[in-house]
Amino acid sequence: MVNVYRPETLAQALDTLSMGKLTVFSGGTDLMVQHGVRAGMSPKFEQDVLFVDAIDELQYIASDEQQEQALYIGAGVVLADIEQHPLVPSVLRQSVAKIAAPALRNRATLAGNICNASPAADSLPALYVLDARVVLSSIRGQREMPLEDFIMAPRVTALKPDEMLTHIVIPQHDLPEEFYHKVGTRAANALSKLSVAGMARIKRYPKKAPVLEEWRVAFGAVGPTVVRSRELESLVVGQSLQTLAKSGFIEQVVGCYREIIRPIDDQRSTAAYRQQASLNLLTRWLEELSRR
Ligand SMILES: Cc1cc2nc3c(=O)[nH]c(=O)nc-3n(C[C@H](O)[C@H](O)[C@H](O)COP(=O)(O)OP(=O)(O)OC[C@H]3O[C@@H](n4cnc5c(N)ncnc54)[C@H](O)[C@@H]3O)c2cc1C
Repeated sequence: MVNVYRPETLAQALDTLSMGKLTVFSGGTDLMVQHGVRAGMSPKFEQDVLFVDAIDELQYIASDEQQEQALYIGAGVVLADIEQHPLVPSVLRQSVAKIAAPALRNRATLAGNICNASPAADSLPALYVLDARVVLSSIRGQREMPLEDFIMAPRVTALKPDEMLTHIVIPQHDLPEEFYHKVGTRAANALSKLSVAGMARIKRYPKKAPVLEEWRVAFGAVGPTVVRSRELESLVVGQSLQTLAKSGFIEQVVGCYREIIRPIDDQRSTAAYRQQASLNLLTRWLEELSRR
């Protein structure tokens, strides 16, 4: 027998969370599968459940004037609203639009996709290249941390038992070049074999070749957590597009990524396919940039 709570304010939710160990329930699209729900059967939750979908304070997307225009996405916002919102960076909208199918996206949240911490969660590579941060709240106060630190291992996050994720923060950025590609078995309702997200900024000069002033790339479903290496990105940042186009440069970068992309075989794909397809997409993106 479990108790079920559905508070209408964040303060009530945090008070309830402080009482003991509860399962935070947003859209329930991961939780219902994990708790063995089949048609005609009741879900089997082992601990009390806190529904957070009725909390208005978590239902907004807005940029914060005081925080250098950072974009705040409330934990209650469903994927369908993120997909449509003009303030949300296109790389994130594209990745969200690839999750499952429209009916599910009307119910599932970005917060749930993050907190579920699946290696194949489709929003994560885009959020990593955006340098996204998460705000965790409890009756003790709030703390904010980079998403990369929040996701510690498959299904393991830095959440304490009395905390919930309340906001996702996307810092203001100026990275107009974007790349997103998900590889699945079909166009919709397919979990990722792998996915790649990238962002970049090209600086143009009057008398010399354009330079890649910023360049980021992240890979999903090819490791226990998203693969992003600032060290390898620094090999590309500052290079001219002419250098990118030179024979051997892209191959050298791709060779370095081959060392850190170490996927596994599972029911959705083989390790060899995942690695090669990721590197092919990386090559495609660098070649595209070299032609800009
Ligand atoms: C048919 C189907 C297809 C799917 N396809 C995809 C796909 O293509 N790509 C993909 O990435 N995912 C997919 N998923 C997985 C799932 O839909 C997503 O991960 C979704 O974003 C989860 O959001 P939710 O709000 O439903 O999370 P929930 O199920 O409510 O919660 C997920 C986890 O996060 C925790 N949690 C939720 N909100 C909070 C919060 N605010 N604070 C703290 N903890 C919280 C919960 O306790 C739970 O552990 C699919 C699922 C199904 C059933």
